[in-house]
Amino acid sequence: MRFMSRRYQRQDRRQGRLPGPGADTLAAVRLVLVTIFPDYFRSPLALGVVGRAVEAGLLTVEVVDLREHGLGRHRQLDDAPFGGGPGMVMMVEPLAAALEPLAGTYRVLLTPAGRPTTQATLDRWAALPALTLVCGRYEGVDERVAEHFIEEEASLGDFVLAGGEAAALAVVEGVARLLPGALGNPESAGAESFRDGLLEEPLYTRPAEFRGWAVPGVLLSGDHARIAAWRRGQRLQRTRERRPDLLPPGFAEGEGEG
Ligand code: SAM
Repeated sequence: MRFMSRRYQRQDRRQGRLPGPGADTLAAVRLVLVTIFPDYFRSPLALGVVGRAVEAGLLTVEVVDLREHGLGRHRQLDDAPFGGGPGMVMMVEPLAAALEPLAGTYRVLLTPAGRPTTQATLDRWAALPALTLVCGRYEGVDERVAEHFIEEEASLGDFVLAGGEAAALAVVEGVARLLPGALGNPESAGAESFRDGLLEEPLYTRPAEFRGWAVPGVLLSGDHARIAAWRRGQRLQRTRERRPDLLPPGFAEGEGEG
């Protein structure tokens, strides 16, 4: 837990960081985003679950503008790769200057070359007092950054984004919704995909029939035991069809598909 004084907040605002109005209360998690595009985060941090978590003081978010640590008159951040090759590489000096003062936080470099981020990863990060997410750009980041200023390298998936900002936003949302009190219904986070190794079942709401497409009758039956069995069967079937890699070991073919 971390108390942010009003003086600290004023300082943060001057430095272009974005603590929310609730940040002067005890915060469960401090998130720091290191980026060359601070504006990227402005509206997403104010909306939905993240906005409410910030407002409620469950979360503080600071955005560190890497350009402020750029080198020379042009605030240079990148240079050509040693050994040749396409594109530019983010230099170690600006990142060292930004990340050294954040040594008390758990610093994560977002990179397609990192370990896959899963729900278990987000559970682990949401339990930390302070998490820093470093957004790469260009061809990536000088390896000495990961070696000396980073606790973990994480990938959002087997695809290449233009920069780490979209990946960081995904992590911020995923972490924010895990914080106690962030979701309207606290049961929501417990009953979702990945919680027990299975994907979520199909969901339906009114109307019970649309263009002749009827909701499965069991959901309208009021029979809670049958509904629970149907849901479990759907989750198993879906997981088997779409993500067999997730199925817990020992799940026999056809088990639970009632
Ligand atoms: N040359 C890098 C490679 O082949 O692995 C890709 C660099 S990418 C164009 C620029 C930045 O976007 C990366 O440094 C990283 O911060 C971010 N990025 C792209 N894809 C990502 C992913 N799947 N997960 C996390 N970050 C990603």
